[in-house]
Amino acid sequence: MNQTRRLFIKNSLLGLTALSGAAPLFAKKAKQKVLVIGGGSGGATAAKYLKMMNHALDITLIEAKPYYTTCYMSNEVLSGKRTLASLEWHYNGLQKRGIKIVQDKVIALEPNKKQAITASGQTYHYDRCILATGIDFKWHEIEGHSAAIAQQIPHAWQAGKQTQILHQQIKKMKMGGTLAITIPAKPYRCTPAPYERVGQIAHYFKQYNPSAKIVIFDSNTQMPMGAHFKHIWKRDFGYTTENSMIEWRNGEDESGIVALDAKTKTLTTAFDDHFQADVINLIPPQQASDLAVKTGLTDQSGWCPVQFKTLESVSHPHLHIIGDAAKLDILPKSAYAANSQAKVCAIAIDALFRQQVVDVPTYMNSCYAMMAEDYAVSSVAVYKMAQQKTELVRVSGAITPLDSPTEMFQREVAFAHNWYRNITDDIFN
Ligand code: FAD
Repeated sequence: MNQTRRLFIKNSLLGLTALSGAAPLFAKKAKQKVLVIGGGSGGATAAKYLKMMNHALDITLIEAKPYYTTCYMSNEVLSGKRTLASLEWHYNGLQKRGIKIVQDKVIALEPNKKQAITASGQTYHYDRCILATGIDFKWHEIEGHSAAIAQQIPHAWQAGKQTQILHQQIKKMKMGGTLAITIPAKPYRCTPAPYERVGQIAHYFKQYNPSAKIVIFDSNTQMPMGAHFKHIWKRDFGYTTENSMIEWRNGEDESGIVALDAKTKTLTTAFDDHFQADVINLIPPQQASDLAVKTGLTDQSGWCPVQFKTLESVSHPHLHIIGDAAKLDILPKSAYAANSQAKVCAIAIDALFRQQVVDVPTYMNSCYAMMAEDYAVSSVAVYKMAQQKTELVRVSGAITPLDSPTEMFQREVAFAHNWYRNITDDIFN
């Protein structure tokens, strides 16, 4: 190779190296970062759908637990119809899609700096963050109760170990003993679920402890799907007769629980009535997760106000809140609603990144209550933003009619199990 040619190649390579290292014209634009906190029904769905919409996004999902246990269908674990393992979901599906999964707990969220800090000391920066950390409990509203005492007096309102504790206590309860279940005032996670739980536990007792009693202390006066529950409780457990296995006490004063003595297993109502039980399933009043409260995202209701169109926090831009933690008026706190919000949120974030107009969303909810082995009831509803855009309105919906033929209720049981398979597949795979 002659001198001139060698010099030309050398200079060309040098030039290319210099260009790739420094010239801003050729530099790749940094990927936009989305941080999802909480890998439950809402968070996992949002991460998946956002990645499907725009593969170029850098999406990190931080989840405190190694795997997720669904609350939905966990009442069937209490009646012995299902194993806890059948409710556990891992994150390999999301990982395969290119989402970074981090097992860690976020201990501080700093919206002004657009960053989150985890228990292991890592800092994660974001362009947009989705907070989907679910609920926590207002322990202070029940004198004598705490997170530590919940290891003996379980709520089983976050599935997993809690479900196991309650299941063991139900199995070990003395013959002819009494189980008390307390229901907080609305709003709380999944309104029909406590009544579904009563039915599932009663079915277990009917088989293994037929003289047992269940007493419900309900802070509310109305039971959702009440006509169906009462019908099936009457058919299967003699509800309203002298020998009824189930007693439903209701009303804020008469049945709202204000204190617990864990040692003697005694509940105290606002009327200062005391009730001792062999097993207590105390479902405490609820609010948005501790992280949401600590970050100052909640209002006096304990839930996080959001813009209905984008689910962005009303107080902190670039921070979206979905699932049970969000305050969405009449939209129930359910897995299906969290899944629906996650999709609305993913579409909105994708549009915002692309600087496009965000459409008016439609939200949906679909819920099944497993009332007996041959009897389930479904309730579906569609919600839209009202004209003035300050509230959500229910635009259509239906519930399995009470006078449906028997086969319809049997079919609903199969539909409910299919619903479970479909929604978990949609969230995690
Ligand atoms: P979750 O699903 O609870 O997810 C929150 C996640 O965030 C958790 O995995 C948690 O570990 C994680 N997290 C929390 N804090 C942090 C942190 N600081 N750092 C990192 N991670 C964190 N819904 C239905 O639609 N149908 C049903 O049939 C139904 N049945 C139910 C039955 C029962 C008994 C109960 C209790 C609930 C039921 N639900 C049902 C309701 C449903 O489980 C919830 O509404 C839904 O899971 C809410 O989703 P989410 O994403 O808001 O919260």
